[in-house]
Amino acid sequence: MHIFAIANQKGGVGKTTTAVNLAAALAASGQRTLLVDLDPQGNATMGAGVDKRSLESSVYQVLLHLATLERARVASPSGKFDVLPANRDLAGAEVELVDLELREMRLKAALAAHRGDYDFVLIDCPPSLSMLTLNGLCAAHGVIIPMQCEYYALEGLSDLVNTIKKVHANLNRDLKIIGLLRVMFDPRSTLSNQVSAQLEQHFGDKVFKTLVPRNVRLAEAPSYGIPGVLFDRAAKGAQAYMAFAQEMIERVNSWKETT
Ligand code: ADP
Ligand code: MG
Repeated sequence: MHIFAIANQKGGVGKTTTAVNLAAALAASGQRTLLVDLDPQGNATMGAGVDKRSLESSVYQVLLHLATLERARVASPSGKFDVLPANRDLAGAEVELVDLELREMRLKAALAAHRGDYDFVLIDCPPSLSMLTLNGLCAAHGVIIPMQCEYYALEGLSDLVNTIKKVHANLNRDLKIIGLLRVMFDPRSTLSNQVSAQLEQHFGDKVFKTLVPRNVRLAEAPSYGIPGVLFDRAAKGAQAYMAFAQEMIERVNSWKETT
């Protein structure tokens, strides 16, 4: 079971779009996949076609030991993957977890009990470096960082990289940056191409080969509760996320061969 956190403390950079579409694309490729929504906004939940307003239990109950993962997870009605959903309740977890034992390790522990159930677990993190993101980073083997290729893209990246380093040093020796995913890419923009080249220069093979273009079909899909990769399979954005799933599967397989 490979667990990946999709993180970037900036909002609106494509974390949720990446989490939902990668989950659906991996599932469409036959991978047993769980999507964990760690954002109180519940956008990944809704994007996967699960109504956040009518949840019996959610990731909030799991983190506070009020429900098991088994109880809280639901099957996405639109894709062949499971969802550990979230809604506003989760906003309270930040404060409620503070005094609890092993507060950063709660998601990790919940997932450990289901090690055999999935090939991939994807964790959609909130736009902050909070206790919730910390739970995501402590549970994960690797981080996928979606980025827009714009002027300020690199600003703030160092905060995230430092947080990942600290978590690696103190809480989770398994954690590494798997890669930077360029999203909402505009191939006609000179700036996009310049920033993209800069990323490749600085981060080398930590930059995924797949480029996700700006594509309106990806932005429309959530309002139908259908992941973009299933909503319009022919769209450029859908094809990019299908290619990204293959790239992730190849990465994971290459680790198996070398260990
Ligand atoms: P985050 O989770 O980081 O806040 P989202 O995934 O919610 O970011 O994306 C922010 C907005 O950008 C959403 O409205 C989403 O539909 C849109 N979006 C994300 N990726 C793309 C893309 N490749 N092309 C067009 N719109 C996109
Ligand atoms: Mg989001």
